[in-house]
Amino acid sequence: MKVTDHIKNAQGNTLFSFEIVPPVKGQNIQKLYDNIDPLMEFKPPFIDVTTSREEYVYLDKGNGLLERKVTRMRPGTVGICASLKHKYDVDPVPHVLCGGFTREETEYVLVDCHYLGIDNVMALRGDSMKHEQQFSPVSGGNHYATELVSQISDLNTGKFLHETIETPHKPNFCIGVAGYPEKHFESPSLESDLLRLKEKVAAGADYVVTQMFFDNQKYIDFVAAARNIGIDIPIIPGIKPIAVERHLQILPKVFSLDLPLSLEKSVLACKGDRLSIRQVGIEWAIQQSKELIAFGVPTVHYYSMGKSDNIVKIAKEVF
Ligand code: FAD
Repeated sequence: MKVTDHIKNAQGNTLFSFEIVPPVKGQNIQKLYDNIDPLMEFKPPFIDVTTSREEYVYLDKGNGLLERKVTRMRPGTVGICASLKHKYDVDPVPHVLCGGFTREETEYVLVDCHYLGIDNVMALRGDSMKHEQQFSPVSGGNHYATELVSQISDLNTGKFLHETIETPHKPNFCIGVAGYPEKHFESPSLESDLLRLKEKVAAGADYVVTQMFFDNQKYIDFVAAARNIGIDIPIIPGIKPIAVERHLQILPKVFSLDLPLSLEKSVLACKGDRLSIRQVGIEWAIQQSKELIAFGVPTVHYYSMGKSDNIVKIAKEVF
């Protein structure tokens, strides 16, 4: 079922959903299930599965030289989606990227998703590769998420890259896109970024999931600004609990966001005690979630990043 239909069917009640990251290749999928199992109690109607950019690895040639190879360290997004659907009877949402894929390869991924009965996809540009100064698509790839959304929308009408096929078996993907309450780091302004978001909606996006934020007012203002320029699709807030002290530096740097001073102070007051810091993150996320539910958000979407014990504690208090 489509994410937007889950939201409609909830009739104003806030849903619980989360995102997982595929394991590094060579690892057992059981670890992933062990993290998902305790979260199923809170009845997520959908689970997002991320896709990673390819990266360089250096292989020791044994003669003092290193060979550079490109590889994807966390493959298997579509396979994991199929396994989630089979094991948990939940709607998986694979993340589909512009970066690293030609439009042709993207079409194959989408066709696979359609055959697997996957009804939703999250359309993203992806970040640049680690060594790149700025994002650049592969030759024949989509440059911006808007183009990817258009490709998916076209497929929904039977328009493949090389021909339009009149068929009753067309996919009908519900398309999610990213939104940034504190603006995307490359964007000249929040206003400009919102207009780009509006372009994604015009291209066929059905709902938005936001980048994480730690001050709910940022989300509330973002939704108001989006509504003001005519973006009327659901905007799902993304929440990540702080888990370690170094998040104080990493999250602002990587995701270009602000952390409230009181949150920073609470983390620092733990003086490096890992369990206490994790607890601060849990309590902050509980408070954020309760306020967002009172505000009437369709879903609270949690970034689980591997370990789910903190999300379980939050969900127990909130759902
Ligand atoms: P876009 O919407 O294409 O925007 C990228 C930038 O380009 C913005 O600054 C925008 O304002 C600007 N822009 C858009 N269109 C144009 C145009 N025509 N001309 C000029 N500028 C333009 N990354 C992953 O690698 N894997 C994941 O699984 C993943 N999941 C994510 C899930 C969520 C909910 C979010 C919020 C992010 C996720 N990301 C993921 C990160 C995302 O890929 C990066 O933030 C990326 O830098 C931007 O992706 P986008 O889809 O928002 O890009």
